[in-house]
Amino acid sequence: MDIARDSALALVQWYEENKRDLPWRRTGDPYEIWISEIMLQQTRIETVIDYFLRFRDALPSLKDLADCPEDRLLKLWEGLGYYSRVRNMQKCARYLADHGRDNLPASYEELLKLPGIGPYTAGAVSSIAFGIPRPAVDGNVLRVLARLFAVQEDIRSTAVKRTMEDTINRCYAGNPDLCADSSFVSSFTQGLMELGALVCIPNGIPRCAQCPWGSVCLARAQDAVDTIPFRSASKERRVIPMTVFIVYDGLRITLQRRPEKGLLAGLYEFPHTEGHLDAEESRKYLQRSGISAVHMEALQDRKHVFTHLVWDLKVWLVQAAHIPDSVPAVPLAEFPDYALPAAFDEYRKAAMSRIVVC
Ligand code: SF4
Repeated sequence: MDIARDSALALVQWYEENKRDLPWRRTGDPYEIWISEIMLQQTRIETVIDYFLRFRDALPSLKDLADCPEDRLLKLWEGLGYYSRVRNMQKCARYLADHGRDNLPASYEELLKLPGIGPYTAGAVSSIAFGIPRPAVDGNVLRVLARLFAVQEDIRSTAVKRTMEDTINRCYAGNPDLCADSSFVSSFTQGLMELGALVCIPNGIPRCAQCPWGSVCLARAQDAVDTIPFRSASKERRVIPMTVFIVYDGLRITLQRRPEKGLLAGLYEFPHTEGHLDAEESRKYLQRSGISAVHMEALQDRKHVFTHLVWDLKVWLVQAAHIPDSVPAVPLAEFPDYALPAAFDEYRKAAMSRIVVC
C-alpha cells in the first residue's frame, strides 16, 4: 500500500483548490490549530466554528487558557461534550506555562509527551502547524485510505490504523523534496481530512467523479465503495432510566455539582435518581428532602447518548413553596451562568421559559 508521488501531488492540488474557508485555516498559530483539532474530535465542523471563535476570543493565548478559572472554562465548552478534552487542554497549557513556554513545541516527540496529547493530535498539530511530516489518521483519513487501497479489514482495528500511518510515513520518506516545503505537508494532512469530509463521504455515495484519486482508487475500480470501509459493530450501550427534578421556588433552583472525577466531572446538573418515577412517586421522593411540590409539570422525555451508555430521561419541573437550605441550589438570576452538560441544557432552556411565565 503506497501512495504514489503523483497521487500525493494531486491531493494537495485538489485541497488548495477546494478547501473550505475555516477560521483555524487562516492562522499558522499552533495554539489555535491545537484548539480546533481537539474540538473537532467527536464534533461536526459546523458546530465547532462558533465554539472555536468564542474560545479563541476569550482565551487568545496558552497562558490565558492556563489561568482560566474552571467554571469559566467549562462554560466556554458547554454543549461540546467530552469535557475531559478541555480539562486536558488546560492541564497541558499549565504544564507548558510552568516550563516557561508560551506556545506548543515544534516537535512531534515533544508534543506526544504533553498531557492529553496522543499520536493523532501530535501528528495533526506537528504537520499542520509546523509542516513536520507525521501522520494524523482520524476517521475521515481511515475511510479514504481504506477505499483507496480496497482494505477489507475492520477499520476499528489498531492494526489497520497502524498500516495507514505507515503508508503515510512511507509517502513522506519517499518524497523528501516535497516534504522540505512545510506547506506541502500541512496541505497533505488537511487534504486527506478534507477529501474524507467533502468527497469520500461517510454516509451516502462517495463523489468519485470529483475525487483527485478517482482513477487510481481500488474500491472504485472494484465497485466496492459501498462495502468499504468495513466496520465491526460497536458494543451495545447500557441504558439507564433516570428521573430528573428541576425544582424552583421564588428565589432559587436546584442545581448540584457533579463529582470531580468520572463522567461529566465538575459540571452542574439537576438532582436525579435512577428509575422512572410517576408524579406521586416523585412527590414522595422530594418530600424526603423536605421539598413540597406545589405544581409539577412533566417536560419532554429524552434519551441522551454517551459513548458507552444512554440516559433515558424523565423530567419533572417542580414549583415548590420553599427549597430547604440543605438542598443544593443556586439563585435563579445566576442559573444561566452555570455550565451544564448537553443532556440537561435543553431542560434548562425549557425551565427558564416556563419559570419566567410563572
Ligand atoms: S474514488 Fe471514490 S471511493 Fe475512492 S477515494 Fe475517491 S471518493 Fe473515495
